[in-house]
Amino acid sequence: MQLACWLKYIKTTQNLLHSSHTQRFSTSVMTLFRHKNAKRIEGLDKNVWVEFTKLAAEPGVVNLGQGFPDMPPPPHLREALADAAVGGNFMLNQYTRGFGHPPLVKALADLYGHVCGRSINPNKEIVVTIGGYGSLSNSIQGLVDEGDEVIIIEPFFDCYEPMVKMAGGIPVFIALRPVQENGEQGICSSGDWKLNEEELASKFNSRTKAIIINTPNNPLGKIFKMEELKIIADLCIKHDVLCISDEVYEWLVYSGHKHIKIATLPGMWERTITIGSAGKAFSVTGWKLGWSIGPEHLIKHLQTVQQNTIYTCCTPIQEAVAQGIQKEHALLNDQECYFSSLPRELEVKRNRMAKFLDAAGMRPVIPEGGYFMIANISVLDVDLPKVEGNVPYDNIFVKWMLKNKRLAAIPVSSFVSDQDKSQFEKYIRFCFIKQDSTLDSAETILRNWK
Ligand code: PMP
Ligand code: GLN
Repeated sequence: MQLACWLKYIKTTQNLLHSSHTQRFSTSVMTLFRHKNAKRIEGLDKNVWVEFTKLAAEPGVVNLGQGFPDMPPPPHLREALADAAVGGNFMLNQYTRGFGHPPLVKALADLYGHVCGRSINPNKEIVVTIGGYGSLSNSIQGLVDEGDEVIIIEPFFDCYEPMVKMAGGIPVFIALRPVQENGEQGICSSGDWKLNEEELASKFNSRTKAIIINTPNNPLGKIFKMEELKIIADLCIKHDVLCISDEVYEWLVYSGHKHIKIATLPGMWERTITIGSAGKAFSVTGWKLGWSIGPEHLIKHLQTVQQNTIYTCCTPIQEAVAQGIQKEHALLNDQECYFSSLPRELEVKRNRMAKFLDAAGMRPVIPEGGYFMIANISVLDVDLPKVEGNVPYDNIFVKWMLKNKRLAAIPVSSFVSDQDKSQFEKYIRFCFIKQDSTLDSAETILRNWK
């Protein structure tokens, strides 16, 4: 097939070279080759969000795919943003400090200093950037070199793999696996998904530069327990490896579970970058503001990337988030604190979703944290269309469900490496940070499935 295309291409080229358009054509062929993509992005042109958000945007689709709330964020935050833009201090519409707006880095240092039980230097140990994405990108660009190995735990937030590759690094994958699938009542928890300790140890070697962990995990909802974090920490220390800890869902923790920051384990602060996101903390994903926190000797490299790439972030948004952080910090551990009231509200939605997915014959994995739930679809008897090529089952299933049931989800195989897709292709991911009316619509679709 490819050979046929090339032959046709050569023939057309020969014909054109003899035509009156010769000069124009040969210039454009040269341009084509000269403007070929940079090697660092070779093979990275596919993206799950680009593909599935487009499909989910079709009219009439109930969208439980991409992770964003369809509920209002805290009113005080929106008011703070409006005030920053149109209030008395018009200078809040101008550039601010590149590594983070001073009131924001101060608020973050106070909050995380309190949470981590240590003093954090707002200017040297924090960088504020464009979302969790920006923090991941700064960290990987600033710390991963050509040929460095980076351990990634599957299922993982999809951008980890291309970001490591763009830095010239080599992703090394290890999968979380359910130790007991579907428990006694046929329902399993994200806590039942574990790493094999020996397998994990075997991934570390002298070329390993970093491990990326994500707790609570997207898409699984797993919260790594102290004993699991200790194993990772011991390996990092033994092999002198860095840890990039993506904790954007840190506040979304359900009853009976606790979020632990790996940076607080002995010997880990000096080798860990901890990543947070205002989009997740305050249900404002469109604000795209995130931060990396860690020791000065690592953060300074992220600052170098930042000053030579985006330089600075939106000032009014940083001002509003600073006020939001200050307010929630003062309320921490109070019922009124948004960081406690949001997970309380979401736990009800999580339980409701687990029930309606289970009733529809899917087998949900109950998340301990975050706002996603994966479900095993292998027992549903769906006559899926035949698709050419090596397309994972869940990908075909989600597209079928979108078209025929008008319900959007995300295939879990998008969150794993090519080599492990077959282990995960029986799962799809649903987002439950949605208004009750959206969940009602999803429930109705599932009730009428047959
Ligand atoms: N990390 C994880 C685990 C995520 O799910 C996301 C998606 N929101 C991000 C990072 C990126 O966060 P942001 O939207 O703040 O860029
Ligand atoms: N983090 C969000 C999710 O997992 C969306 C990311 C994106 O749209 N790129 O759904």
